[in-house]
Amino acid sequence: MSEYIVKENALVDFFKSLASGRRLLTPQGLGDKCKLEETPPDKVNLDFSNTHMSPKSLLFPQTEALMAFHNDASKPQAFVYQSLGDKGEPLAVFGIRPCDAKGLSIANKVFQNDRFTDNYWKGKIDQAVLVGLACDNPSPQCFCAAMGGSPFGEAGLDVLAFRQGKDLGLKPLTPKGEELVKASGAQTANLADAIKGLEAEAVKSQGVPPDYKGIDNADLMALFNDPHWLATAENCLNCGVCTFFCPTCHCFDIQDETSEKGGVRMRNWDTCMSWLFTVHGTGHNPRPSKTERVRQRFMHKLKYIPLKQDGVRGCTGCGRCVAMCPVNIDIRSVALKMTQTAASQA
Ligand code: SF4
Ligand code: SF4
Repeated sequence: MSEYIVKENALVDFFKSLASGRRLLTPQGLGDKCKLEETPPDKVNLDFSNTHMSPKSLLFPQTEALMAFHNDASKPQAFVYQSLGDKGEPLAVFGIRPCDAKGLSIANKVFQNDRFTDNYWKGKIDQAVLVGLACDNPSPQCFCAAMGGSPFGEAGLDVLAFRQGKDLGLKPLTPKGEELVKASGAQTANLADAIKGLEAEAVKSQGVPPDYKGIDNADLMALFNDPHWLATAENCLNCGVCTFFCPTCHCFDIQDETSEKGGVRMRNWDTCMSWLFTVHGTGHNPRPSKTERVRQRFMHKLKYIPLKQDGVRGCTGCGRCVAMCPVNIDIRSVALKMTQTAASQA
């Protein structure tokens, strides 16, 4: 697929094309007010760092009604079920950062795989076209390169957009993305070398990435049984903020809200940081203390997900958990401890 360019004076028409027949969502607001909002084509802002929350809630809302049920008067003891849930709508989402798009691609393999399809997720993602905006100036909290990504990463996106001075470069990545770009009237251009140069500069600005490869090859049980988990967990409040902000975390709980005549089945975000998350019906809890719960979070991101997803880590380096943790627990420090454990076992 070729690259395309949209000149500065054609940007509004480009965004009008994106909004044609769809809702256009783009990042609006500054700092911790920055969020994806419906945007008029002449109000798109290209100068933002990243959205405060990750875009996962577009496809996996914090709270979602899955189905309703009520008594069937003609059949005592029987329930009638009615599927609910947001089945999605045509959406163009512009400005997703590559770390967050990679997060969606990791979650996508959980919600859609060869054994299982979550129709609530599928209905939304199938109708969405995801246009990323490369980070030409990553913020200090970003470490995507250390986690195997790039400020110009392509995973999870239909189109990667990037700043070319005051113009906008476009690289379609899927047939859906190519259709969108062609329909916008953008001009073809050979920008492959420009992308390489811009990407190299952006990666360089993150410094030399630490090498966590030792974790990939380390014995799983050696990492699991390492005594450092006790100290790593000591300060954790188990507040769950890190997981709710994370673009790859996807755990949920299902509860029925019932009345005398029926009810609604709800799906809500949940977190492995919560004591209640793993309590069995018997009262037994396989993760009874903070140590097991904190270990689960980091082992899941840095060992279990890579084992299931061809080496792709479950952390994309977006930096949200580092910025938001009230007690400054930093996944980069934990990854280094795990790397040291791996080295000591080699
Ligand atoms: S945000 Fe920090 S304190 Fe809260 S659960 Fe996560 S690691 Fe623990
Ligand atoms: S673990 Fe933290 S840095 Fe990594 S993707 Fe999740 S929120 Fe971002």
